[in-house]
Amino acid sequence: TKLYEVVEGKAKILAPDPSAYSREGKYDPSWAPVFYNPKMTFNRDASVIAVSLLSPKSILDSMSATGIRGIRYNLESVSPDETIFNDKNPAAITLLRINVERNGLKNYKITQLDANVAMHQFKVDFTDVDPFGSPSPFTLGAVASTRRGGVIALTATDLAPLEGSSRASCFRKYGVRTSKLSYSKEAGLRILLGKVVRDAALFERGVVPLFSFYKEYYYRLFVKLEPGAKRADKSLQELGTMYECTKCGYIFLDTDPCIRSCPLCGGSLLSSGPAWTGSINDEVFLDKMRSVLEKFSYLKSYSELSYLLNLLKNENKYKLYYNLSVIASKLRTNMRPIHKVLECLGDASRTHFNNVGIKTSREFKEVVECLKSS
Ligand code: SAM
Repeated sequence: TKLYEVVEGKAKILAPDPSAYSREGKYDPSWAPVFYNPKMTFNRDASVIAVSLLSPKSILDSMSATGIRGIRYNLESVSPDETIFNDKNPAAITLLRINVERNGLKNYKITQLDANVAMHQFKVDFTDVDPFGSPSPFTLGAVASTRRGGVIALTATDLAPLEGSSRASCFRKYGVRTSKLSYSKEAGLRILLGKVVRDAALFERGVVPLFSFYKEYYYRLFVKLEPGAKRADKSLQELGTMYECTKCGYIFLDTDPCIRSCPLCGGSLLSSGPAWTGSINDEVFLDKMRSVLEKFSYLKSYSELSYLLNLLKNENKYKLYYNLSVIASKLRTNMRPIHKVLECLGDASRTHFNNVGIKTSREFKEVVECLKSS
């Protein structure tokens, strides 16, 4: 394998040299013998901060590839008693050994297992699942490997099923009958959280989403698992259905999965569920992330992270986002500048999900009025 040195955060690792694995001037990290994607630096930077607040004594990096995540958690977040690096790819194991050594890690173990085997074999405080595509085949395993009160982190890059473009695949992977909703980005995250809730319930755990976001082509989430059948039931009660009226554009969440017509105009409804209807971020956890952020000012994503965390905090008190361009086209009107709509609504926020989206506590008719009036 032709390698080059990558510096990311405080880690210096060897990764496959893109120039050696390019085809016709193009490069996709999955073409290399071991996977390393520089575009995921933001995901890892955000994770380093989150893990620093969790202070896990043990970590399972269940899909390590080069080891960059687990290495960075050790160098930048915490000093765990043990980190288990795992990957089923033998080439990754060879590179992992080199990278872990190069970065001077002490308390670690390297295993070459299927992630689900590893997750049923080891018990840790924090499990990281970072697959190609859907994390769905691994969510149950992640719950199994995580001790009471521990946290799991998941990456999902399968946006087509989650956002409602591949409906059959969404039913297959998530057991969710979905539709293409105007707030598809948030819908995808809520479907994924719903899946985690149902898998956690099998092990009698409730869930608290600590930190979840969408970016470009993936979701990343940190979910705390709380022990007890009662807590599991309480989380299950927060599952519901996401709706959207095809006629007026009204959107809402409801625990009743069988609503047929729009409560505002009687129009027919699109629906998607079961999905998580609760908060997708924990206010206290976000505040903690914001308060430690300065310690991470060396990160490449520092200012972007600061922007994201502030936005997540602002939008967290509201439910679904309105896609203003969809509503404007339903009304056959031009979209007013978003800051004007926000001003008009008063109690409202932009959303990180979509730059023409807003979240508000105001009623739908006020959103429509504010969008129209100039
Ligand atoms: N975590 C890495 C990072 O941040 O750079 C990237 C992980 S990469 C997206 C996915 C990795 O999971 C690959 O190295 C692949 O070999 C491994 N993998 C895929 N399916 C697996 C499975 N069922 N069990 C164990 N490893 C698996």
